[in-house]
Formats: sequence, C-alpha cells, structure tokens
Amino acid sequence: MSDDNQKTLCGYIEEELQIKDPQAYISLIEPATHYCEGCGRSAAKPENVCKPKKL
Ligand SMILES: [Zn+2]
Repeated sequence: MSDDNQKTLCGYIEEELQIKDPQAYISLIEPATHYCEGCGRSAAKPENVCKPKKL
C-alpha cells in the first residue's frame, strides 16, 4: 500500500483532478513530452502515465 504517491495521470483523471485542482493537473501535463498508449493522455513525465510513449 505504498504506491499512493506513484499515481498515474490516468488514475488522477479517474478522480477528476482536472476538475478539482486544475493547476495541479496542468503541472502534470505541461510541458508534455510523453503520451499514454493506453488512454491517449499526454504528460510531462513518462512515469505519470500507465503506458508511456515518447511524443
Ligand atoms: Zn493511461
């Protein structure tokens, strides 16, 4: 139960972080360098998506 701080963007979006805390959400996606092959989200860090793929 220690993977709480390793949540992916995909997980944050399920919790609606982009609605609850847009600034925190933006800081995760800007500047986007990777996207998720699984769900198509873009992220600033590969570890923030479940299936990172370089942009
Ligand atoms: Zn994903």
